[in-house]
Amino acid sequence: MSIIFNWTCPYCEQPTTITGPNHWTQTSHIETNAEENKRVSIKLTAIGCPNQNCNELTLFADMHKSNSIKPLPPGYKSTSIGNKITSWNLLPRSKAKQFPDYVPEAIRQDYKEACLILNDSPKASAALSRRCLQGIVRDFWELPKGKRGKLGAELKCIEDKCDPDTWSGIDAIRSVGNIGAHMEKDVDLIIEVEPNEAELLVELIETLITDWYVGRHKRKARAERAKALTSAKLDQKRAAKKEGNPPILNTTDNDMDS
Ligand SMILES: [Zn+2]
Repeated sequence: MSIIFNWTCPYCEQPTTITGPNHWTQTSHIETNAEENKRVSIKLTAIGCPNQNCNELTLFADMHKSNSIKPLPPGYKSTSIGNKITSWNLLPRSKAKQFPDYVPEAIRQDYKEACLILNDSPKASAALSRRCLQGIVRDFWELPKGKRGKLGAELKCIEDKCDPDTWSGIDAIRSVGNIGAHMEKDVDLIIEVEPNEAELLVELIETLITDWYVGRHKRKARAERAKALTSAKLDQKRAAKKEGNPPILNTTDNDMDS
């Protein structure tokens, strides 16, 4: 049976179609003297990203219950794969996005670790996310020392400067269960959270990094390109004037805005 399925690469985030050559899978039934109802199978799946600029390897393991097929003639054994019990991401280790180097290292590190322990310890993940969130607010908005304090108060400080859509994302978190209730507590304090609350915090960090750091970088790059284009056009005009040639077409200053 040939394998074809749609898939989005966790490294380059490009949606793509996986076919046989990009895909490898193997299942092992683990044979021990464990009780029959505790027997498990491990299914390993590997996917090589077909994007030529990426080509990264994704690897994950699923653990299933093993079911013995009966009846069989004496001396024969056969096993089939049962329901999935759990799975592990082996490569990459978590669903953390790769953010560019211009996002401060400490912020990328806290975010990465918050993703890594999201399933095993939501409260530790939420603690890292809250610290990361505070780091982002302080660094991106250059919050002066006098305005630094509890996370909730610091977020309030930037409400007026923030894009309304981004602010509504932050505000939504402020109303979520224990995270919202403990906004005024120190970010280093571990608070009990639900797994979905920890996930919401990770998603908010991704949104803020994208809207703020990546957005600012793109705006700067666009402005620099426009500046370079304008000065090239001015140079052309000056050169044409010097040589006594009329400028090509009836160029007006309005052209510079286009
Ligand atoms: Zn890829």
